[in-house]
Amino acid sequence: MNFDELGLIKPILDALKAQGYEQPTPIQEKAIPSILQGRDLLGSAQTGTGKTAAFAIPILQNLSSAKEPHRNQIKALILTPTRELAIQIEENFQDYGKHLKLRSLVVFGGVKQHAQEQQLKRGVDILIATPGRLLDFISQGIVKLHHLEIFVLDEADRMLDMGFVHDVKKILKLIPAKRQNLFFSATMPKEIAKLASEILINPVRVEV
Ligand code: AMP
Repeated sequence: MNFDELGLIKPILDALKAQGYEQPTPIQEKAIPSILQGRDLLGSAQTGTGKTAAFAIPILQNLSSAKEPHRNQIKALILTPTRELAIQIEENFQDYGKHLKLRSLVVFGGVKQHAQEQQLKRGVDILIATPGRLLDFISQGIVKLHHLEIFVLDEADRMLDMGFVHDVKKILKLIPAKRQNLFFSATMPKEIAKLASEILINPVRVEV
């Protein structure tokens, strides 16, 4: 299987080629077509399987081909537990989306908020965030999520281990109910399966 058999647009195929990616990984092969169709997805996958590209590539494609694009308003939100993961995810969006006109930004705690705030005010299409800092920005009215279309919860089991589930649930109450949800976790303990069942509607399941 090649990337062009997955129905991807040329600007993305070109970017993947420039990255040196020759073939989709198993999770990409399974997840990309379903996400492109707008389905919810439950992915059991560890870091290292190519799971970031499995969601970043179809998100970029769906947002770039939207009819009513709400330019530079947050349409995709990716929640991830750590600053390091957040930075990596944003780099992937930059790499795969380099020929598209979508803006992505990463925000995380533990640093002053001013620089992140200035970038947010310029407008972004895709926001990658850790939960606490995102809630700070929402409560200050700096982040507005009423145009959100796609919600991604990455490393859900680590979110639970790090005590972020309460923050995640707060965020879920603040985003539009009608949206596409993508949920990734390396393991599926009971509490995570329950959270997934609360978020996802008729999801495609992918295990690698
Ligand atoms: P991840 O599981 O998202 O942390 O990705 C692990 C690593 O695999 C990252 O360095 C990616 O750049 C790389 N990668 C993702 N997809 C592919 C692919 N289809 N071909 C080659 N490398 C890839």
